[in-house]
Amino acid sequence: MSFPNRLQLLWAIVLIAPTVAVLMLLLGGDSGARESEVRASQGLRSAFVVYGSARAEARAALVRAARNPDLRQALEGGPSIELERRAEELVARSPALESLAFYAPSGRRLVQAGARDAVASAGAAATVEARDRLGVVTGSTTTAAELARRIERSTRLEAHVLRNDTNLAATLPGVEDAPADTGELEIGGEDYQAAYDSIDEPAGPSVRLGVLSPNSAAGAGRSTLVLVVVGLLAVMAAAAILALLLLRRRLDELVDAARRLRGGDHRHRLAMSDDDRLAALAAELNTLSDELADKAEQVEQGRRGELQDVTRRVADAFATGLDPEGAVDLTVRTAVETCGAEAGRARPLDFDQMSEVRVGDPEGTFGEVLTAAERRVEGVGRRPAGQASTRTATVAGLHAVAAPLRARISLASGSEYFGVVSIARRGSRFSDSERDLFAYLAAQAAVSIKNSFIHERTRRQAVTDELTGLANQRRFQEALARELERTRRFSGEVSLVMMDIDDFKRVNDEYGHQQGDHVLREVAHALREQCREIDHVARIGGEEMALVLPQTDLTGATELAERVRQAIERMPVPRLDEPGEVGVTASFGVAAVSESAANAQALIAAADRALYRAKWAGKNRVAYAEEPGDGANGARPHG
Ligand code: GH3
Ligand code: MG
Ligand code: MG
Repeated sequence: MSFPNRLQLLWAIVLIAPTVAVLMLLLGGDSGARESEVRASQGLRSAFVVYGSARAEARAALVRAARNPDLRQALEGGPSIELERRAEELVARSPALESLAFYAPSGRRLVQAGARDAVASAGAAATVEARDRLGVVTGSTTTAAELARRIERSTRLEAHVLRNDTNLAATLPGVEDAPADTGELEIGGEDYQAAYDSIDEPAGPSVRLGVLSPNSAAGAGRSTLVLVVVGLLAVMAAAAILALLLLRRRLDELVDAARRLRGGDHRHRLAMSDDDRLAALAAELNTLSDELADKAEQVEQGRRGELQDVTRRVADAFATGLDPEGAVDLTVRTAVETCGAEAGRARPLDFDQMSEVRVGDPEGTFGEVLTAAERRVEGVGRRPAGQASTRTATVAGLHAVAAPLRARISLASGSEYFGVVSIARRGSRFSDSERDLFAYLAAQAAVSIKNSFIHERTRRQAVTDELTGLANQRRFQEALARELERTRRFSGEVSLVMMDIDDFKRVNDEYGHQQGDHVLREVAHALREQCREIDHVARIGGEEMALVLPQTDLTGATELAERVRQAIERMPVPRLDEPGEVGVTASFGVAAVSESAANAQALIAAADRALYRAKWAGKNRVAYAEEPGDGANGARPHG
């Protein structure tokens, strides 16, 4: 049985036992009735005592009356009107006497004077000198009503007086209808215990006395007691429930504290209000918190050191100016190594910014679990950076963790989500600290990738012509200088072709500037198509372009220029505003590096001069510079 259950059982015993006792007392109505019965029979005895004293009073009064000479004289004459008159007079004159009666020896009543309901009579033999006994004379000083009142006063119970079966008096209305017998009876909705007995009068019928004790009288006192006990029990129950609730709350606090401890909250402190075992437990928990906090601090310091180590390595590597690919590669490798993984990969969402990287065998055994973790990252990847971002997955005993590659380009912009990196292993799940480290690496990599991408883009923009995507003038100069330097060091050939579109102004004038731009793009495209990887194609002016051709002599360069010229001439350039095509041609000047044109300036000048000649000779042709200087015509008209 659990501790709280045992506690509840204990409380139940403490509460239920007295409750049952009280209920038994309440329901045990029998004992109340018995008590009432005893009171009734005791009351009846008292009633007889009262009756006895009334009879003693009657005797004294009877003796005085018997001395009355008039009565005695009337008595001489036997029962008569005279006797009855005298008796009436006597009763009327005597303050105590209530009635007088004469009885024949046979028991027959001869004369009756005074109250007819007089009881507790005293009797005496009625004798006359020289005569036989006449009979019996009786006197009474108490009426039945008065007797009933006196019994009620002395017993504090209801009284009932009868003669034979005739009701004489009662203190309780309604008792006349009840059988005048000992036992339980109900009068006016109340239960009574009654006790009756008869007593002989000196003459005439006997008197029956009864006392009635209400059952409720005894119950009333008890019900007050019951009320008090029930009240006490209620207070006890309330106190018990309160104590239970407080105990429960305290236990809840302890459980909560333990949970917080497990969750890593070592700063939480329990209130120390009581001086009990729970307080001792709370104190222990608080101590445990302190110790755990210390340990956590130590572990944290160790981990910080480790992290610093990795951070330094990664930061160093990133600082050496890695290209995006290098940064991604380094990230996946470091993550696999430091988190004890077996495989890892980085997958781009934006192939412009990064490329795919694989470490280990991420497509085979671990493919499924890596994909599962990567899918979960999808949701968090698009949330603001800075939120906990790693997601894990477990498939058939393999564990993976994935993190988004996202970075903020500027304070104003939101963070951009451009890829996902994930690692996997067999055996144990990735711990919280491994996930933290992994998230940190991913965040670092993302920033590094983003930076190098932005850097690369800026650099490209600086040397690229925006309209055609060809190298710009600056890049052209650099490339030419580099190639010339190379020939100077290692010997070899470099040629330069200058090209200018023929009558380009007319294209603009006739079809609009936009059409002109379109022609420029198409010509640039044709140039690139005809050239090799190693050739440099640049737009160096409005509609002037140049080719720097490494390892190419004048003949080769002239042949290339001719191929390009023909390609442009044949090239269909569709009109933008309406159906139809725009015819485009261009002129070319070719020069090769030589003793007379060893530097860039001289080479450009030689090619320029050749181009001028081509124009002058009728456009849409190739002219080349000849050594020495530029004397020969070199122009190659075409058909
Ligand atoms: P030529 O055959 O003698 O070379 O005559 P041309 O009309 O081609 O030469 P000119 O130098 O007289 O005109 C060049 C025109 O090229 C003038 C200029 O408006 C136009 N141009 C320069 N740059 C651009 C450009 O970027 N876009 C467009 N649409 N036109 C350009
Ligand atoms: Mg021009
Ligand atoms: Mg031109």
